[in-house]
Amino acid sequence: MQVTKSIIEVNQVYKYFGDKVALDNITLNVKKGEFVTILGPSGCGKTTLLRLIAGFQTASKGEIKISDVDITNTPPYKRPVNTVFQKYALFPHLNVYENIAFGLKLKKIGKLQIESKIKAALKMVGLTDYEYRDVDSLSGGQQQRVAIARAIVNEPEVLLLDEPLAALDLKMRKDMQMELKDMHKSLGITFVYVTHDQEEALTLSDTIVVMSEGRIQQIGTPTDIYNEPVNSFVADFIGESNIINGMMMTDKLVRFCNTEFECVDEGFGNNMPVDVVIRPEDLYIFAISDKAQLKGIVQSTIFKGVHYEMTVLCDGYEFLVQDYHSFEVGTEVGLLVKPADIHIMKKERFCNTFQGKVVDSNHVEFLGVTFECLPLDHVISGEDIKVEIDFDKIILQDNEEDGALTGEVKFILYKGNHYHLTVWSDWDENIYIDTNDVWDDGDRVGISIPKEAIKVIAIKD
Ligand code: ADP
Ligand code: MG
Repeated sequence: MQVTKSIIEVNQVYKYFGDKVALDNITLNVKKGEFVTILGPSGCGKTTLLRLIAGFQTASKGEIKISDVDITNTPPYKRPVNTVFQKYALFPHLNVYENIAFGLKLKKIGKLQIESKIKAALKMVGLTDYEYRDVDSLSGGQQQRVAIARAIVNEPEVLLLDEPLAALDLKMRKDMQMELKDMHKSLGITFVYVTHDQEEALTLSDTIVVMSEGRIQQIGTPTDIYNEPVNSFVADFIGESNIINGMMMTDKLVRFCNTEFECVDEGFGNNMPVDVVIRPEDLYIFAISDKAQLKGIVQSTIFKGVHYEMTVLCDGYEFLVQDYHSFEVGTEVGLLVKPADIHIMKKERFCNTFQGKVVDSNHVEFLGVTFECLPLDHVISGEDIKVEIDFDKIILQDNEEDGALTGEVKFILYKGNHYHLTVWSDWDENIYIDTNDVWDDGDRVGISIPKEAIKVIAIKD
C-alpha cells in the first residue's frame, strides 16, 4: 500500500489576539497533492489559520511543519507556498504580464524563461493572449485568474486560497470552481482552500476541515462530513438538516416525534437522550397510507429549481422534506425514513453546568452574579459547588436590564419544535437555552434564571 506523505503538519497551534482566542489547539495534517478545504462561519479563524501557514502571522503556541521542516518562524517568502487572496490584490498600474512577472523578476530568473513560465501560467488559467491587457480592463473573474496565475507561476508546493471566489457572481463562481478543480488536477500540487460556503467545499475538496469558534469540529471527506456529521453544529452547517431531540431506547432503536424507529446505530446505552439528524432528501413523502411512519400536514411548499421543498408538521414537530413531487399546503401526508438514513448523535451536554459558590442558605453565586435558589440543606458559606440548569428553564428578555445577566445570541439551532440557542454571556461563558421565541443571531439579551431552576450539587473531593 502506498502511504501518502503529509506536506503540512499543524501541531497543537494556538493564536491569541490579546484575550481573544482565534485558534484553539489546531492539529491538522495535509497530504501531498490533496485539495483540502477549511470551512466554517465568518470569524471562526479560517483566515488566521491560512495566514499562519503562509507565514504572514506567527502562532502564539504550537508548531507548523512543511515537508518535515519546522517553519513556525520562517518568513513567508522562504516558505514553499503562495497565497491567492479574496480581493484580487493586483498592481493596477501594471498589465497582466507585468503582474505575473513581478515575483519572478525578484527571483532573478532569465527573461526568456520568465516569458515561457508566464505563457504556461496564463494558459493554465484560460487567459492565453491576455498578456498586455491592463488589469483594470478585466472582469472580476479574469482578475482573479491573473491572481491565480501569479501564484502558480512560482511553482509553489502548496497553493493557499482564501475565499478566492467570494467576490464573484454565482455563475462565474460555479465556472471558476470547475476550473480550479481542473487546475488542481493538472498542477498536481497541494491546495488549501478557505471558504464559508458549504456547497463550494463539498464540490471541490478531497478533505474538508469544519471549524467553529477557533476549533476543528470535524475532518473528513465530503461524503463523511455530509453523511456522518459528528455533532449538530456540523450537521446544521453542512446543508439543511432536520435535527431533533430523540431517545435511544436500546441499540438500533430510537424514539423521536412520539414514534419508535429502527436505525443502525448502537453503543449509546439504553434510554439515552440523543440528537437525531435526518437530511430533507432522505424523508420520503407520499399520500397517506399504511407505509407512513409519521403522519402530518403540509405547511409550506416551494419549488427550488430541481425539487420541491416542503415543511410537514407531524405531532408538533416540523420536518423539512425535499422531493420531486409537490404536495399542496394543507394536504395530509405520510413520511418514511430508512434506518440507515437516521443519524444518531451523542449530545454534547444534557444541561448547563457552571462552577459556583454558596453565599448563604438561599443564595449561590455563579457566572459572576448572586442568584436566589431554593433553601439549601447544608450551608457552608464560600463552599465550591456545581450548578445545573435545564435548557428550557432559562428565560431570555428583550430588555437587557430585566435579566440578572446579559449576553449575545451567537448560534441558533432549530430543533423541529423549539430553538436551541447558544448565548455568549458577558461573563465569557456559553449559556444554552431552549425556547419557542424567535431570536436572531447577534441579538443582545437579558438572562433570568428562576430559583426553582437552579440545581445545586455538592462537589465531592
Ligand atoms: P474567518 O476568516 O474565519 O472569518 P478570522 O481568522 O479572520 O476568521 O478571524 C478569527 C477571529 O480572530 C475573529 O474573531 C477576528 O475578529 C479575530 N482576529 C483576526 N485577526 C485579528 C487581528 N489582527 N487582531 C485582532 N483580532 C483578530
Ligand atoms: Mg476570512
